[in-house]
Amino acid sequence: MIVLGLETSCDETAAAVVDDSGLILSEVVLSQFEEHRPYGGVVPEIAARSHLDHIDRLVDEAMTRAGLSYDALDAVAATAGPGLIGGVIVGVMTAKAIAAVHGKPFLAVNHLEGHALTARLTDKVAFPYLLLLVSGGHCQILAVEGVGRYRRLGTTIDDAAGEAFDKVAKMLGLGYPGGPAVQAAAERGDARRFPFPRPMKGRPGCDFSFSGLKTSVRQMVETLPPGPLSEQDKADLAAGFQAAVVDSIADRVKRALAGFRGTAFVVAGGVAANSALREKLQALAAQAGLPFVAPPLRLCTDNAAMIAWAGIERLKAGESDPLDFRPRPRWPLDPDAPKSTGAGA
Ligand code: ATP
Ligand code: MG
Ligand code: FE
Repeated sequence: MIVLGLETSCDETAAAVVDDSGLILSEVVLSQFEEHRPYGGVVPEIAARSHLDHIDRLVDEAMTRAGLSYDALDAVAATAGPGLIGGVIVGVMTAKAIAAVHGKPFLAVNHLEGHALTARLTDKVAFPYLLLLVSGGHCQILAVEGVGRYRRLGTTIDDAAGEAFDKVAKMLGLGYPGGPAVQAAAERGDARRFPFPRPMKGRPGCDFSFSGLKTSVRQMVETLPPGPLSEQDKADLAAGFQAAVVDSIADRVKRALAGFRGTAFVVAGGVAANSALREKLQALAAQAGLPFVAPPLRLCTDNAAMIAWAGIERLKAGESDPLDFRPRPRWPLDPDAPKSTGAGA
C-alpha cells in the first residue's frame, strides 16, 4: 500500500510518499521561514499564497524521487485541519484533484492524528500508548487507543508549549522560529539565575498552563537595567524559561504515567525536538518502566510523511473521505473535547 501525503497547515509546504511497511519513499519540505521572518511570526495570507506557489512542484518532486507514477498510488492524503485555513484549502484541493483525476481514494487527515501516529511509522508502537503532544498550537496528554480513538487526559488551559517558546524568543530578540533559537541560547545559559515558576506543578489532573510563565519572563526582563539585553542575559533567561517548561511538563506527565497501562510513552509535535525535554521525558518513561519513543527531529516538526502514514493507517482500517469533505480550521482529536478549552483545538 502506497500513499502520497500533503501538509500545508502552517508554514511548511510538504509532500511525501510512504508505504505501509513504514518506508518513506520520498519526502520534500519547503519551509517558509524566510518569508515570515520579517514579521516575527507566520502571516496566514503570505503562507497561503506561498503554499499555492509551490505545492504542484513539490508533489512532482516527491513522485519523481519515489520513482512512481500516480497509478502506483493507493490513495492521496492531505491535512484537512486544524490549521491556517487558507493553507489547508490549498493542500486539500490539490489532493482531491489528484485523487479525482487518477481515480484514487482521498483521505482528509487530521494534522494532530499525523503527529499522534508518527511513532507507529518510525517504531511500530502497538496500541494503547500514552502520548504527549507538544506543538505550536497544542499541548495535550492523550491515551491513544487506536486509529481515530483518542482519550484526552489533559490539555493547556491557555497557551501551547511551542507558542510560549515562540513568544519568549520574540521577547528576547532571538528571532523566528523561536523554539530552536531558545534551545540554542539556553545551552549557553545558567538556568538557576532567574527562578521562574513551575506552572500547575503539584495540581491535580494533567492540564498545562504557560501564559503566566511567559508573563514572568517579561517581568524579569523589566527588572534588568534598561537598554538591550546582553547575550548572557538572553542565554540565562532562555535557560531559566526552558527549565521551567520542562519541569512543568514533567510534573504533568508523571501524573499521567502513574495511572496508565499501555505499551509505551510517546512524544510528538515540534516541541518534541527540544533536547532538554526529550532527556527528561526519557527518564520519566524509564522510571515508569515503559519504552520511550520520540520521532527523529525532522518528523517532530510538520512534515508530510506523517500525513501519508496517517492516511495509510486509516485506509487499512477501511476508511476514506468524500471529495466534498470541508477543511476544518478547528478539529480536536478527541470527540468529546470541550469546545472552549485548548489552544487551536
Ligand atoms: P500544531 O501541530 O499544534 O497544529 P504546528 O504544526 O504549528 O502546530 P509544529 O510544527 O508541530 O506546530 O511545531 C512547531 C513548534 O515547535 C514551534 O512553536 C516551534 O517553536 C517549536 N519547536 C521546534 N523545535 C523546537 C525546539 N528545539 N525546542 C522547543 N520548541 C521547538
Ligand atoms: Mg511549522
Ligand atoms: Fe504540527
